[in-house]
Amino acid sequence: MDMNIVIIPGDGIGPETMQVSVESLDTVNTQFGLGLQLSHDIAGHDSLRQHGATVTQALLDKVKAADGLLLGPMATYDFKDESKGEINPSKFFRKNLDLYANIRPAKTYAGIKTLTGPFDLVVVRENTEGFYADRNMALGHSEILVTDDVAISMRRITRVCCERIARSAFELARLRQKRLTLVHKANVLRITDGLFLQACADVGQDFPDVAVDDFIVDAMMAHVVRAPEKFDVIVTTNMFGDILSDLTAELSGSLGLGGSLNAGAHHAMGQAAHGSAPDIAGQNIANPFSQVLSAAMLLAWHASRHNQPHFWAASQAMEKAVSDCVAAGECTRDIGGQLGTRETGLALKRRLQAA
Ligand code: NAD
Repeated sequence: MDMNIVIIPGDGIGPETMQVSVESLDTVNTQFGLGLQLSHDIAGHDSLRQHGATVTQALLDKVKAADGLLLGPMATYDFKDESKGEINPSKFFRKNLDLYANIRPAKTYAGIKTLTGPFDLVVVRENTEGFYADRNMALGHSEILVTDDVAISMRRITRVCCERIARSAFELARLRQKRLTLVHKANVLRITDGLFLQACADVGQDFPDVAVDDFIVDAMMAHVVRAPEKFDVIVTTNMFGDILSDLTAELSGSLGLGGSLNAGAHHAMGQAAHGSAPDIAGQNIANPFSQVLSAAMLLAWHASRHNQPHFWAASQAMEKAVSDCVAAGECTRDIGGQLGTRETGLALKRRLQAA
């Protein structure tokens, strides 16, 4: 079964890192006979200039008809006024495609000196509600300016969203080391995180083979820095997962190593965990591996959804090529290499051609 992927480079460093991802996909397409069809489009600043909006309904329709989306990083902070077409594209796709599970693996690599010992874990982050003001309401945002000096931000937590993210995490844990850690703040957010914990416990009844523990989110930051190897799969609500997964990516060597998949029941979007990094955009120094690993995760999602082993093999080859490049020092400066983004892409391509 072929796979049609919509490719959107995004803002800032996006075009540079997406170029490497597309070359990697083209290479595994040939090597593994995937029948990939890559359809290129725009969102973010490019789309705002061209269409008057950062994203359009036509683009959403196109993505819905495709088998997957590879989205570059977005300059989200620049997009402040939806009435002027400044919509957060990441939110737009997560919400409209109901991409409720944000899967963010983090692991250490041979060849990168890190602050910790070796580890290999996955953060499973709820993606469709929580403290994200643009995701919680049928109409309007869940941040309110009461007076010029008083502001309120609301956090929505629902049983259905907790249960489905818990199920995703238990299923993943079952495929790994059968260990799941719940991260919460139920000592203070008693009702909302209490609901999250209860939903996890209920879903856990179906997974008696998975060992479960839980940590309060602030203490978790200390535990994961002190001994990340103690964790396998971690599940948590939206904002805690966003913060924790940037920490675990950085602990693995760099934010530029954090692959990330946003998945729902019917659609999936690969998008690097980092942002548009305007401080290094256009300098050929951005680490492309996060975006490449996100593309690999998208292929793996397609493989398991349609039982396509050659997509799985291609995904594994991309992960291995990244590991091999890192081990050989064929990488960007943020992880100790001396290559530029483009040159890292060429090294990756050579390894993939030998796969
Ligand atoms: P950022 O993730 O863009 O950058 C944080 C730091 O990490 C910077 O020093 C940057 O140079 C570095 N970095 C990030 N990616 C890198 C890579 N691939 N290689 C090497 N170094 C890398 O966060 P920020 O600067 O706070 O945000 C910039 C913009 O990105 C903002 O508009 C923000 O809203 C947006 N953002 C978007 C997403 C997304 O699209 N998913 C996620 C986070 C932030």
